[in-house]
Amino acid sequence: MSVGVAILGSTGSIGCTALQVLARQRDRFRVTALTAHSNAALLQRQAAEWKPAYVGIVNGGNGEEGRGKGSGTQCLVDAATRPDVDIVVNGIVGAAGLEATLAALRSGKRVALANKETLVMAGELVTRAAWEGGGEIVPVDSEHSAVLQCITGRQSADVARLILTASGGPFRTWSPARVADATVDEALRHPTWKMGKKISVDSATLVNKALEVIEAHFLFGLPYAGIDVVVHPQSVVHAFVEFVDGSVLAQMGFPTMELPILYALTHPARVPDAGARRFDPVVAGSLTFEPVHAELYPAYGLGRAAATAGGTAPTAFNAANEVAVELFLQGKIRFGRIAETIARVLETHTAGPAESLAAVRAADSAARRLAREAACS
Ligand code: NAD
Ligand code: MG
Repeated sequence: MSVGVAILGSTGSIGCTALQVLARQRDRFRVTALTAHSNAALLQRQAAEWKPAYVGIVNGGNGEEGRGKGSGTQCLVDAATRPDVDIVVNGIVGAAGLEATLAALRSGKRVALANKETLVMAGELVTRAAWEGGGEIVPVDSEHSAVLQCITGRQSADVARLILTASGGPFRTWSPARVADATVDEALRHPTWKMGKKISVDSATLVNKALEVIEAHFLFGLPYAGIDVVVHPQSVVHAFVEFVDGSVLAQMGFPTMELPILYALTHPARVPDAGARRFDPVVAGSLTFEPVHAELYPAYGLGRAAATAGGTAPTAFNAANEVAVELFLQGKIRFGRIAETIARVLETHTAGPAESLAAVRAADSAARRLAREAACS
């Protein structure tokens, strides 16, 4: 019996890469559900190729309906909880992926999670849903996949520290003054990864790495003091794990999401994959590591502060960032305004406990309102 896979966000960068990986693993997996929010034509081509039992398009996908009964956000939950689905690949961008992640975990599914915003805005709820429903969160994010690969089969008490790597994005060598006025095109020109627009901007501000620090905290249970970040422009080492005796393991490979996606499907097992580009240390050449320069990436420090504050502070951080990135991509605010907006929202937001979906959604909406005011004032 092959394993049933649902892909939420199948038309995106992660969704398309997941289908590429699955095309080489047809004897092990079958695609039983696909959902998307935009690009209905691509969704239809994917549906024709994979013939999933369920195809859903959220909010009509700019006016068009996909095959099947799905429409509205309920279709994400429907897709994620079907009996013919064993693994849900959540490749949705942003807060919209939350209910589907919770529902999948509560119905005992494995969630191969790319949608890190979900874990940042509601880490406690998501981990509780997994615990209560017998579901399992397996990271797709390359750094977290690297950590998981290094610690699998070991005692969690043996882990002393995680070091996540960051490419530093397109502005690593720029002056802070020049970065503040960077254009959308410049921000989207990521040096080592080809990704969706939102995460590309997040990589330029280093918000992505702050989100990943919070993601690592909830996935692996380490305190924030035990999660460090280092800038590594070549993106070959994806993470380091330091153990209590001082030994350090790292996972490496040329930058591609194919491997972490495949590993999230097969963990803790490994399967042969003919398509992945093999690593060659000579081609990789020299690997360099630098500290994070706080003045170049002000939003990174704001994210770490929100993480330590806890409760709904990470929810507000994520919401403010989503709003600001959207406005930046629409050409309505400067690049430098993204971090300024987040700072203003975190100053005004009163963090409370993130104990229920209602509390999280309320904090998320309040922070979005504050962010829209702050960004454009
Ligand atoms: P993307 O923009 O390329 O794709 C997003 C997908 O989600 C699309 O299919 C879109 O239709 C769907 N979507 C968007 N808004 C939605 C909504 N409101 N409701 C339902 N579906 C919606 O984004 P991406 O780069 O594939 O990133 C997806 C997630 O994976 C993000 O959380 C990102 O941080 C994470 N991630 C991406 C990469 C990468 O290489 N692209 C790597 C690591 C983590
Ligand atoms: Mg990552």
